[in-house]
Amino acid sequence: MGQEGMGYNNGKGGGGGGGGLPMTEPTHHHRSRKIHRTFNNVKITVLCGLVTILVLRGTIGLNLSLPNQPTDADALAGAKAVEDIDRILREIRSDGGADDDAAAAGDLAGSFNATALNATEAAAAYASAVERYALGPKISDWDGQRRRWLRQNPGFPSTVAGGKPRILLVTGSQPGPCDNPLGDHYLLKTTKNKIDYCRLHGIEIVHNLAHLDTELAGYWAKLPLLRRLMLSHPEVEWIWWMDSDALFTDMAFELPLSRYQDRNLIIHGYQDLLFEKHSWIALNTGSFLFRNCQWSLDLLDAWAPMGPKGFIRDEAGKILTANLKGRPAFEADDQSALIYLLLSQKEKWMNKVFIENSYYLHGFWAGLVDKYEEMMENHHPGLGDERWPFVTHFVGCKPCGSYGDYPVERCLRSMERAFNFADNQVLRLYGFAHKGLESPKIKRVRNQTTKPIDDKENLDVKAKISTTS
Ligand code: UDP
Ligand code: MN
Repeated sequence: MGQEGMGYNNGKGGGGGGGGLPMTEPTHHHRSRKIHRTFNNVKITVLCGLVTILVLRGTIGLNLSLPNQPTDADALAGAKAVEDIDRILREIRSDGGADDDAAAAGDLAGSFNATALNATEAAAAYASAVERYALGPKISDWDGQRRRWLRQNPGFPSTVAGGKPRILLVTGSQPGPCDNPLGDHYLLKTTKNKIDYCRLHGIEIVHNLAHLDTELAGYWAKLPLLRRLMLSHPEVEWIWWMDSDALFTDMAFELPLSRYQDRNLIIHGYQDLLFEKHSWIALNTGSFLFRNCQWSLDLLDAWAPMGPKGFIRDEAGKILTANLKGRPAFEADDQSALIYLLLSQKEKWMNKVFIENSYYLHGFWAGLVDKYEEMMENHHPGLGDERWPFVTHFVGCKPCGSYGDYPVERCLRSMERAFNFADNQVLRLYGFAHKGLESPKIKRVRNQTTKPIDDKENLDVKAKISTTS
């Protein structure tokens, strides 16, 4: 397997093709996003204004020449509707004053001014922030509390049918609409894809739209959410975070959970990239699992302090860029922060972390999406690795925002392919398939029978997907 086949190039910032570390700088996007959003709002407002004028003029004009056209009352109602839409759009698209919260980060910022610190001082500042920041009230006996709860609630066991540990899949997306309506369409498709996988494997699913901690908005939102769900669901053994832009592309593969018996965090990545290269893409936080236990709560607490938006996140970003290979200059992201934490406190955490790369718990999309036909030709679902990737993750595509690191057409076309590749595995159970990987249209691939239950092969999700019929 070459580097690319191994998924080395899973760059958050995109890799520009080859198998190495990311070369591009995705991050001016972060800064210019706000300006662009303001600009977008102005555009929308102007557009709605124009529509209002057109509706008013159109109705009044028609009223003058044709007797049976809408009345003044209709015109007013029309204008009122346009006005309402205009107002709702404006409210929904604005950040609802969330940016004001940045000021609240001020108190924390004072204790974490790393602008002019050398590496040692920065590490000290980071350590003191770890001490001071917590996601919530410090819980220290969660394992005991959870054990008692499970004993008292035998109706909610931490295992499911077949004795498998209970898993909760968690995903989420921004509270408001996507910048582009197609982004919402693909959010629906990626969510449908997750529901399908979970239904087939007896996994529960949560889709979160809220920012439980206003400081930890955006890609940091998963941290307070995971903590909250662990505490609210003591019956759940594993909490599995999956990004909204990641799709299950192997509907038959199951996590080899027995392999993880003495581990608490399962994440895709490469040991050598982490401890030898200090690479910022050594791990990928687009798909990972936490065991519901005290250790995980502690790790979340240690992971979160670089997340508060504004000053701290910006300053922490500088520390991360200075310490992690290949990282462009931008605010602290959750992935870099986890890598930095595990690097700087290896002894404390690593014995409970499983770095997985024997299958694609996360698979970087660019090296996979053009090979689906080849895979269908030669292999079958259930393998999970480069022969039939478990997860295809659209890192850097930002389908819901406006400024990804790749051309938007390429991203959307590739997402459509991944969705249909996976959906074929579901539709096959019912006798259908997509007309092609880029077509939402389907065709029948099996004749209907009067004895459907006898036709065992039809119900096997691991069966080969026919590419010819
Ligand atoms: N996300 C969220 N709430 C938000 C913004 C993002 O839950 O307000 C989640 C969403 O699932 C998204 C993930 O955070 O997929 C990480 O961001 P993204 O996938 O854009 O980052 P990338 O994988 O490209 O680095
Ligand atoms: Mn992602």
